[in-house]
Amino acid sequence: MRYLICTLLLVILVCDSFGQRTSVEDYKLQQEQMKKSGLLQQMDSGVYYMDIGDHVTADAKFRYVLENIKSVPSDLTFFFGKNSYYLSKYKQTIDWLTKYIQLKGTNGQYSKEAASLLKDAETEYMKEKANEMQKTGEVLSANYDIDCGPSGKVICPVCKGDHVLIKKGAFGPEYTTCPYCNNHGLLTCEQYNQLLRGELKKVN
Ligand SMILES: [Zn+2]
Repeated sequence: MRYLICTLLLVILVCDSFGQRTSVEDYKLQQEQMKKSGLLQQMDSGVYYMDIGDHVTADAKFRYVLENIKSVPSDLTFFFGKNSYYLSKYKQTIDWLTKYIQLKGTNGQYSKEAASLLKDAETEYMKEKANEMQKTGEVLSANYDIDCGPSGKVICPVCKGDHVLIKKGAFGPEYTTCPYCNNHGLLTCEQYNQLLRGELKKVN
């Protein structure tokens, strides 16, 4: 009899602690679920703003979800990638849309749109790259010595050959002598090239 009571007590104790444990876990799980559904609402709201063309607000919503959600829903990889395209962030677009296609293959709800946007983003990104390369490789005349022709003289571009500069003063025009050229408003070819490079010293 005593043995039976002991066993019963033990069973009750075990069951009770088990029950408590699961209720704590249930509570945690519930909290987790609530947080997640809140974040998914934010994501839906982001989609709404993206669809009406407010890509900046959509971006903020998506970023908030990305920063707070435990694991990123595959749909969000598409939405964030798509929205990035409209913000002209092409590298970011390529990154996220590629992820979506990796996850969903060609049969996902947004696979077709993702593939077409990805292609556009890649084109834009290449253009951007090409522009950057052109910029760094830009050829400027100031880096070269310009041949001024047989006379070796150039009309001074500062005073346009007048050898006089006219400035608007408080009491009417003020006339000053051009500090760069000779009396005839001319520069030597060497001076001209120095002027182009910003190296010509004022002489007058
Ligand atoms: Zn001059």
